[in-house]
Amino acid sequence: MLTVKKIVQLSEGMENIALVAVVIAKSDPRLFSGSLARAGGRYGVKAAFEESADGSTTASTARGVLTLTLRDSERDTINCTVWAAADVIVRYDETITIGDVLDVQKPQVTASFYGRSEQYSPRVTSSFSLTVNEQAVGNQIAHHAGGPDPYLSSLIRIPLVRPEETIPLADLVASGAGCSGETFHVLAVVRSVRPARQIRIARRNETRAFREVVLMDQSHSGVLLKLWSAAYIRWADRWQPLVTVLLIVDARTEYSEYHRSVGLTIDRKTIIIQDPKVPQIVERLLRHAKDVPMQSVDVACSLSSGTIDPATINTVMTVQQILDRSGGTGSQITEEDQFTALCYAVITRLDLDGPGSRTVSHRCSHCQTFVARQSPFCPKEDCPGYRTPPALDSFFDLTVDLTDHTGTLVGCRMVSAVAETVLRCDVTTFERKTEQQRTALKWMYLLDRCAVRLVVKRRTATRFQQLFSIVGCTLVDPLEVESKLKVY
Ligand SMILES: [Zn+2]
Repeated sequence: MLTVKKIVQLSEGMENIALVAVVIAKSDPRLFSGSLARAGGRYGVKAAFEESADGSTTASTARGVLTLTLRDSERDTINCTVWAAADVIVRYDETITIGDVLDVQKPQVTASFYGRSEQYSPRVTSSFSLTVNEQAVGNQIAHHAGGPDPYLSSLIRIPLVRPEETIPLADLVASGAGCSGETFHVLAVVRSVRPARQIRIARRNETRAFREVVLMDQSHSGVLLKLWSAAYIRWADRWQPLVTVLLIVDARTEYSEYHRSVGLTIDRKTIIIQDPKVPQIVERLLRHAKDVPMQSVDVACSLSSGTIDPATINTVMTVQQILDRSGGTGSQITEEDQFTALCYAVITRLDLDGPGSRTVSHRCSHCQTFVARQSPFCPKEDCPGYRTPPALDSFFDLTVDLTDHTGTLVGCRMVSAVAETVLRCDVTTFERKTEQQRTALKWMYLLDRCAVRLVVKRRTATRFQQLFSIVGCTLVDPLEVESKLKVY
């Protein structure tokens, strides 16, 4: 007969007990061939001994291990290491997910002070750890037999650390390479979830599943979170951009030489609490997330609406210099994600006329969100325009190519008020113009030398494309150009 105990009641060497608890973290399974498992001992097994699930090891001798982090009250957490035949471990990995309530029967209770595994497992409150070894009789884990347990299920949303113990994303980014490898607690909104991919790791001659998630908070608009664990990659399917909030306990920081910025990764110490129960803080985060310009058109609009005074942009750069600096190659890399430039160039593309040219875009009149051309509805779920087609506000949304003697800057955005000033025509008047009048307007600028003032948003870890936003454009005297022009 088993006695049901709570985590807090455990003591060393207890026998014939059972626990009921919810899974709050789960490691990736590790599988070993029988002989190596013996040689490697309990915890000293090195990664070199690992075998893939479909490896050559036969099922009869192969063993595996999986670590689960369990919780049975707001306070109490404990790690539970499960040893079993490899196929059983693989089955556990497939069937046990974070949030499941489990019965743990006849575990071994040991003081975790001596367990070196603690370094590689999440931090817990209990000073003991559980071991389930399925070779012992009656020793097992299973989904809870007593049906749903609302109390235990609700524990997965109770924060494990206080919000004050989390660190703003901007502070992580600011510390640069200096904090690489350290762990921090982070509370952030999911900004986007990229598709899972297979990455080839040449060094180990294997492919691994990989997924990137972009996080944001009030202090920073995008930090990359990398997921390498199959369980977390699957879990991320349920994360919704601008809706899901994550409290990440012991997220590992990782400096990327490639992006020249700090990102986060989940490792074996990390615990993620999805949508933690700290309502006011979560609400504030989500409100902030909804107000931040997301699409490049929104960023271009906010840039052209006076956040930067064009008169202050006087650094003359050629197209090639702008390309070098924006793409992250060359020697002029800075940590800042934007810079400004004054470029003397000819407008070689300005699609004001002709079929299919995009000249005017629309915003929802209720909430000012960008409404895609093909849809009459506002994309924001909480807006009245989501269900009933809203009235639309029009604004200029022009794509412009700029060319000088060094090259072409393709796809610069010229939007809203800037375009109205340049074309000396407001958007309503423009919409009433005939095709011929539009063509005439185009030729006022096309192939003429202009002084173009740009804000360039560099390509970063969280922005796939650089953005060239025109914030000022005037026709110039060829003599002025000659005096300012640079050879390179
Ligand atoms: Zn709307």
